[in-house]
Amino acid sequence: MFAEVALNIPLDKTFIYKVPETVSSKPEVGKRVIVPFGKSDFLKTGIIVSLKETSSEIEETYIKEIFDIPDDFVLFTEKNIKLAEEIARRYASAIGEVLFFFLPSGFIIEETSYVYLKRNEHVKGKTEQQIIKYLKSKKGRVKLITLVRAIKGKSTYSTVKNLIRKGIIGKEEDITYTLLPTQKVAVLKEIKPVKGKKELEAIEILKKIKEIPIKDLNKRGISYNTIKRLTNKGIIEIEEREHLIDIKKQVLTDNRKIILTADQKRALNAILNGKNETFLLYGVTGSGKMEVYLHAALETVKKGKSVLILVPELLLTPELRARVESYFGENIVVFHSKLSKKELVSQWLKAVKGKSKVFIGTRMSLMLPIKDLGLIIVDEEQDTSYKEQQKPLYHAREMAVKRGSIEKCPVILVSATPSVESYYRASIEKYRALELKKRVSNIPLPYIKVVNLKEEKRVGIFSESLISAIKNTVKKGEQVLLFINRRGFFSSGFCPKCGFVAECDDCAVPLVYHKNMNRLICHICGKKYKPLFRCPECGTKLEFKGYGTERVEEEVKVLFPDFRIVRLDQDTVKNPTKGAKLIADIKNGNYDIIVGTQIASKGHNFPKLTLVAVLMADTGYLLPDFRSAERTFQTIVHTTGRAGRFKPGAAIIQAFDPENPAVKYAAEYKFDLFYKEEIEARKIFNYPPFSYPVLLEFQIEKTSKFGKIEEKFNILKEKIKPYFNVPPLNPAPIPKVSGRYRFITFMRAATEENLLKGIEILKREMPVLFRGVRYRIDVDPVYLL
Ligand code: ADP
Ligand code: ZN
Repeated sequence: MFAEVALNIPLDKTFIYKVPETVSSKPEVGKRVIVPFGKSDFLKTGIIVSLKETSSEIEETYIKEIFDIPDDFVLFTEKNIKLAEEIARRYASAIGEVLFFFLPSGFIIEETSYVYLKRNEHVKGKTEQQIIKYLKSKKGRVKLITLVRAIKGKSTYSTVKNLIRKGIIGKEEDITYTLLPTQKVAVLKEIKPVKGKKELEAIEILKKIKEIPIKDLNKRGISYNTIKRLTNKGIIEIEEREHLIDIKKQVLTDNRKIILTADQKRALNAILNGKNETFLLYGVTGSGKMEVYLHAALETVKKGKSVLILVPELLLTPELRARVESYFGENIVVFHSKLSKKELVSQWLKAVKGKSKVFIGTRMSLMLPIKDLGLIIVDEEQDTSYKEQQKPLYHAREMAVKRGSIEKCPVILVSATPSVESYYRASIEKYRALELKKRVSNIPLPYIKVVNLKEEKRVGIFSESLISAIKNTVKKGEQVLLFINRRGFFSSGFCPKCGFVAECDDCAVPLVYHKNMNRLICHICGKKYKPLFRCPECGTKLEFKGYGTERVEEEVKVLFPDFRIVRLDQDTVKNPTKGAKLIADIKNGNYDIIVGTQIASKGHNFPKLTLVAVLMADTGYLLPDFRSAERTFQTIVHTTGRAGRFKPGAAIIQAFDPENPAVKYAAEYKFDLFYKEEIEARKIFNYPPFSYPVLLEFQIEKTSKFGKIEEKFNILKEKIKPYFNVPPLNPAPIPKVSGRYRFITFMRAATEENLLKGIEILKREMPVLFRGVRYRIDVDPVYLL
């Protein structure tokens, strides 16, 4: 038998291996294999993507043999592999790259080389002598890497290799298969007479159950010493057993006893009675969308199938988890990047072994090897964190829909402010639209007032209307959220005389002043600079513009010295313990005014919050990105939606241009009109959903190299022209990152077929044309800067 194996290498090809009789477990698609690779037959981890009886491609004698198939379970289902193929095809990556991107790294075998002294022979070279002296002093074998580090010098490694060839040094490899979460158990081997009371007690326990975790023996009063004595006598043996972290009994508890409204029931029934299609479930915050999808999930689990719930990074809060647990008990799998290596392996195995039915996590959960998947949910489907920014650069929302069609199960995209793409697809009935028209509670949507920053009197960025609203709210014992889109103090100064702007040397973007640290910080690469208050060119005092959370915080403190003010942004919640305490304090009403970024506008429910202000609603509008209107609209709706979730509230939107459709329609709750206008605009300019974009980026060290790149780019252009509209290469809006110059072209395909054909050519031609050049093929890009 022959196995087609995907390896973790950026080449878009798989490798054929012969399956020998000697492997530990039976070959199956999705199983892990250990294979020799390359000239030196270095052992690598691979995944079987297909099996065949005969091999046609190459002469059988050239085919290498699989070293081992270590597990009796698969790590990917066959449907996972199909999905990985689709991701590789659409996002211009290799199948192996995709599979190993998702697979927790604890499953990758590690090969460690050991060396030892074979013959004590006289050698001449100084390094050789040092090596032998070192090995002699160590007696047994030592890790090769330890030896190389101990004997400093450039040629150590090659000298060791030489000594191995001469037969003076021996080399052995040890393989660690998995970072399997295990625990130690005592196993009864042979009953022999003993005298000690504790030893007798232990034997009695083991007679009944044959094996028991050491931890449990300890709990029953059997000490380590007793266990050791029994082991020495050969009565018991200590063995390692797989132990998946955090498995609890699954209890289906419908304990919230929520009776769905007529609207909600209609949506639920549509999902339950529908075919395996994609639904777009939308409606304002508080309209009960989550209850609908949790009910749908519950019905799915009752039928014996599993559910995958994807949520954005910021939404995966303890609150959300508790809400899901209130439906399914504690045995849900939570999967995200903050878990440890062992925890990730554990959770992955729970999917493989069917130990849980409900899986919730961030975009990286897309590929969890869940069997019998019955429903996929994508909450806050418009969120940009669904797009992976590293290779394979996949879009988890788009691929969740794909997974739904592969698994033949329904997919629910959920949002208060759907992405324009999904909304459009619902409008042409590619997706099925399910709208919840009003809030479940009787609490009305917040009253929204738009303030014109150009006209109204203000102190700094605070309009008179806002100042009086803040006073009134706090006087009633309620809370205010002031939303600003940027952390830090303000954008760096510019010189009014000569126009100098303090920019990052590496990224050429204006720096942001962080007053707390007294540093200018680049928000692209994080580099810190000493603050500048005078122009280094002409000595004029710099002027400062722009607002960040720190500056707002400081100005609020001056305006309202008696109020309790707190800042909630990436900088203040970086530390999870402190962040959790901060949020608890806000909930408990220990603060009057919260100054925050997106972090404050997502996920958390603050019961006392009744006034929300978006301080500068339309500044993002000027960015050269076709999605900036959509993002402005979504930010306003989400932020204002935080107000008055538990009692009536209000929102103030401050804008320089209140007539801007994103601002106007958000304030008037005229969502349909916004989408209609935005879709029209997208159509005129041929942006998605009317085209399929690819952002192609080159990063080069010196601008002088650009000419060469452009020449080759023009060759490429000829080949992809039938499929893409290809504008010339231009400097990116953020022209430099970490010292490299960025050049981009925003290409668009008219149809999905063209997109896929064009990508095929990019995948084939670019590695050849641009060998040694750093480039990036970003399909379905969400950031164009
Ligand atoms: P959304 O996801 O649209 O923001 P949720 O599903 O979170 O809305 O519902 C908002 C609040 O209303 C939640 O506290 C939820 O438990 C409650 N809720 C939703 N539907 C009902 C219902 N039918 N009866 C009672 N409470 C409900
Ligand atoms: Zn920088």
